[in-house]
Amino acid sequence: MTNFREQYVDAEGNDVRPIIINVGNMSAATDSLPALFTIDEVETVFHEFGHALHGLLSKCTYPSVSGTSVARDFVETFSQFNENWAFQPEILAEYARHYQTGEVIPDSLVAKINEAHRFNQGFMTSELCAASILDMKWHELTEEELAIMSEGDQGANVAAFEERVCKEMGLIEEIIPRYRTTYFNHIFNSGYSAGYYSYLWAEVLDKDAFEYFQQQGIYNPEVAQSFRRTFLEKGGSEEPMVLYMRFRGAEPDPGALLRARGL
Ligand SMILES: [Zn+2]
Repeated sequence: MTNFREQYVDAEGNDVRPIIINVGNMSAATDSLPALFTIDEVETVFHEFGHALHGLLSKCTYPSVSGTSVARDFVETFSQFNENWAFQPEILAEYARHYQTGEVIPDSLVAKINEAHRFNQGFMTSELCAASILDMKWHELTEEELAIMSEGDQGANVAAFEERVCKEMGLIEEIIPRYRTTYFNHIFNSGYSAGYYSYLWAEVLDKDAFEYFQQQGIYNPEVAQSFRRTFLEKGGSEEPMVLYMRFRGAEPDPGALLRARGL
């Protein structure tokens, strides 16, 4: 998702609406087949549409905090949240039809897709948590601590530090952090310093919010309106947890993430 213009209210009090596009590089049609999306592509479409809704439905005053201009550990909540809809039977019946027969995707295939999503999640969740903690530990170091670590050496002893952190977090030998320090590009070079956790945290919020929808009915208009008014209209104009509490009436339960991953 990209926006050419943020939503904002100008000096005359006019609500300037945002200009937003979603452009994807998806499977193209061939001579013998129409364009048929892979599961990953379907998820990407739902994901980016979640960002687009966050931008389009914005009702803020200042462009700097409108739409998707929110804290980094909050922004993916709404795109990941939207992905939850992709494989709900009610929604699949609307869009997932056989390109030749028009038949709705069979329940048995949907069950297989949903089960495959839970494959190896114990390993994947652990390696993500380990990478998030390793990132935090590097960015918690003071300059003095770094100087002590580097004494008599050419630089900080990266491998020794990483080994100590992994031992402290109780990581078993079979699981290593998703990224080792020496190639952990996100945290040293891509603006995710002390922020790698944000992917998992956004997932805690999105899965907890989705559980609420599941309890109330995924087409429940009151819950949907509340979600829209509380989150999608507010951008970054209020603290994320204040908004979350307003929507859910409680802090998010990390168990929702584990349940969604089948753990
Ligand atoms: Zn995204």
